[in-house]
Amino acid sequence: MASHLAEALIALGGNVGDVRETLDRAVFQLCDGSAVRLLARSSGYKTPPWGVEDQPPFINCAIVAATMLSPQALLARTQAVEQAFGRDRANERRWGPRTLDIDIIAYDDMAMATPDLTLPHPRLFERTFVLVPLAEIAPDRSIAGVTVRDALSKLDTNGIERLPPRR
Ligand code: ATP
Ligand code: CA
Ligand code: CA
Repeated sequence: MASHLAEALIALGGNVGDVRETLDRAVFQLCDGSAVRLLARSSGYKTPPWGVEDQPPFINCAIVAATMLSPQALLARTQAVEQAFGRDRANERRWGPRTLDIDIIAYDDMAMATPDLTLPHPRLFERTFVLVPLAEIAPDRSIAGVTVRDALSKLDTNGIERLPPRR
């Protein structure tokens, strides 16, 4: 029996606590190897805060994963991982400091807009902190008809710093 596997592009980031440790553990927890299988992971990047500027820099990374989960089930899983790492949506401001944010950037070539889930992610083309990590692992992937590489070429990547691998 053939079961459909979708390819998801996922962006992770945070700016509270030991974010590099959190990202490592979150990727491990999210990608259990069966429901969600890790295909590629970018370096970590130190990035200037976006939307709300008076807060510490973020650390971001991106992954490509193969999943048998529906988009909604994948979202629920990412939100459970966020909570496991101390994310508290009830007590934060929009685009403010957080331990861990996990966004689904794309799920195959699916386009949808529901109250809980918009695909592809509606602000991805404005965000170097999403596109720079993605361009490292999936430059030729097209999202809404635009390759990650071409989308990134329209933005100014000043202030983004690729971090060396952790030991
Ligand atoms: P932004 O969406 O601008 O990146 P944010 O990540 O800070 O902002 P959150 O508070 O983490 O926003 O999420 C708000 C809601 O966005 C979530 O509860 C979720 O239901 C919804 N959402 C819609 N589309 C997506 C998506 N593609 N990935 C993750 N969450 C999404
Ligand atoms: Ca986000
Ligand atoms: Ca989010």
